[in-house]
Amino acid sequence: MSPIRRLPQVLVDQIAAGEVVERPASVVKELVENALDAGAGRIEVLLAEGGRRAIEVRDDGCGIPAEELVLAVTSHATSKIAGPEDLRAIATLGFRGEALASIGAVSRLHLVSRPHDAPAAAEVEVRFGRLGAVRAAAGAPGTRVVVEDLFAEVPARLQFLRQPSTELAHAAAWVERLGLSHEGVAFALRHDGRALLDVAAGDDLEARCAAVFGRGLAERMVAVAEDRDVLRLRARVGPPESVRADPGRVHLFLNGRWIRDPRLLRAVREGVREFAPDGGYPALVLFLAVPPERADVNVHPQKLEVRFRDDRLVFAAVAGALRRGLGRSQWAARSAGSVGWQVAEPLTRPPAEHGAGPPPAAPPPDTTLVNAAESVGPVLQVANTYLVREVPGGMEILDQHALHERVNLEELRREWRRSGVVAQPLLVPAVVDVSREEFDLLARWADVFRSLGVELEAFGPGAVSVRAVPSLLDRLVPERLVHDLLDVAREHREAAPAALADEVLRRMACRGAVSAGDRLDGEMLENLLRRGARLPQDRTCAHGRPVRVLLSLQDLERAFHRR
Ligand code: ADP
Ligand code: MG
Repeated sequence: MSPIRRLPQVLVDQIAAGEVVERPASVVKELVENALDAGAGRIEVLLAEGGRRAIEVRDDGCGIPAEELVLAVTSHATSKIAGPEDLRAIATLGFRGEALASIGAVSRLHLVSRPHDAPAAAEVEVRFGRLGAVRAAAGAPGTRVVVEDLFAEVPARLQFLRQPSTELAHAAAWVERLGLSHEGVAFALRHDGRALLDVAAGDDLEARCAAVFGRGLAERMVAVAEDRDVLRLRARVGPPESVRADPGRVHLFLNGRWIRDPRLLRAVREGVREFAPDGGYPALVLFLAVPPERADVNVHPQKLEVRFRDDRLVFAAVAGALRRGLGRSQWAARSAGSVGWQVAEPLTRPPAEHGAGPPPAAPPPDTTLVNAAESVGPVLQVANTYLVREVPGGMEILDQHALHERVNLEELRREWRRSGVVAQPLLVPAVVDVSREEFDLLARWADVFRSLGVELEAFGPGAVSVRAVPSLLDRLVPERLVHDLLDVAREHREAAPAALADEVLRRMACRGAVSAGDRLDGEMLENLLRRGARLPQDRTCAHGRPVRVLLSLQDLERAFHRR
C-alpha cells in the first residue's frame, strides 16, 4: 500500500460535493432555495441542455455584499444560523452553508450579486474549486448564479448524468415543487430558450397547479382542507382520470418543505383509494403543517424524509381528511342530496378511520353494483339519456354516456396493460387526408397507436388509411379518430409514450360511448349495466363527471313526508 497522505483540499471538496450535488436538478434546487431564502419576489431559472451545459438562476432578493462573496462560496459558511439554539427553529430552506461551495467544487460557478442599497454589483468565479478574485460588475439588485459544465472535471460523476431530457425533467420537477409551495413568488423556467413554466407572484394555488399540471386538470382538482389540533392539511386532488400507477405527480409538503416520505405517501394512497381507479395516485398537492417540535425533518441528509413524534396519528389524520374531503366532493358517489333532495346521511357508510396500517379486509358495504352482478333487473331509459333502476337500499340514476365512457376506459386500460388493446380490422379501410406535418406526427407515434388497437398505414403522399380500430369500440368513426389522435399528439408533444397512450384511451373511450339521446334497446342496456358492474371505479366518467346518482329509501321517505 502507498503511504497515507492528506488529500488536496480541491479533492476533499469534490468528494464532499457529492453529498449535495448529484445532478443538475440538485443545483437548481439549491440555487432556487437560496433565492427564496433571500426573500426574492421573482425567480428565473434558465437551463441549457437539461442543465448539463448551463444552469442560471436569477433573483431579485436581498443580494450579497461584495465583501461576503468569498464567504458565500466557502464551505460551512452561512448567514442563516449562528448557534445551536437556531438549529431547533430553522426558518430558512438552507442552513448548512455547503451548497455554493459544493457546486463551485464541481463546476464553473459564476456569482454576481448586488444588495439593494449597494451602488454596484460584484462578482466572483470558482472553477472546479479554484477561487478567483472578487471584481466589480454590472448587475441589477439581486443575485445571478451561473453554473456551467457541471462535473466536466469529475469524470466519476459525469458518467452518471443522463441525457438532457431526463436531467431537464428532474430539474423542472424542483422548480414545480418550489413554485407550488411559494405563493407570492413569481417563477419562470426556460430550457434552451423555450418557456416551460410561468407563474406570477399573485397566482394562487389553483393557478400554480394549472401551470404545473395543465389548466384542464387543475380546474377539476378538488380542494380539501382540514384543521385538527395536531395538524393543518390543505390539498388539491386531481380527478380519477389523473390517476397513474406511479406517484410522480404527487407533491407532499411538510411545513412548506417538499418531502418524499414513503409512509406519508401510503397514507395519501389510503385516503384516495376509493376514488382512484386501480389503486394508483391522482395528481395531488398536499400541504401539511404540524408544530415543528412534532416533526423532525433532519433525519435525511437531503431533508426529504421526516419523522413524526406520533406518526400513526398523523397518517390516520391525513388519510381520513382526504377521504372525508373527497367523499364530499362532486366526483364521489352522489346521493340525491346533492341534486336537490334533503338528505341527512350518505348512502355509503364512511369507512372506519385507519392510517398507514394494512387496509381493512373487506370494502365497506356499498350500494354500487359489484355485489349484484347476476341480474341487472328492470331498467327504465328516461329521455334517451338516463337509466333508472332499483338497487339495494334505494334506486339509482345513471348517465348512459358517462357509464359507457367509464366502462370503455377501464376495459381498454385492462387490455392495454395485458398485451395491448385488441384490434378489429376494418372490412373496408378508411382513407383520411392529412397534411405533411400531420402525417409525420402520426408516423412518430404509430407504434403506440398500434398498441392501442389502431392500425394506420401510409396511403399515398397526403393520406393515411385506418386498417383497424379497437374491437371494443364499434362506434368509432375513423375520420374522427384520426383527428383525435392528431389532437392528442399535438397537445402532448413532450409526453412520455405511456402518458400519450392513456390520453388516447380516454379520448377513444369517450368517442366510442353511446351519446345522450341515443335510444338503447334491452340488450344494449343489459350489456352496458353488466359491464358497468365489474369496474374498479364506477363513480365518475373519464372526465370526472358522475356516472351515477343514488336516491336512498331515506331520501324517498323524506320526500314523501313518511318521516
Ligand atoms: P446556505 O443556504 O445553507 O446558507 P449556501 O452555500 O447555499 O448555504 O449559501 C451560502 C450563503 O450565501 C447563504 O447563507 C446566503 O447568505 C448567501 N446566499 C446564497 N445565495 C444567495 C442569494 N441568491 N441571495 C442572497 N444571498 C445568498
Ligand atoms: Mg443554500
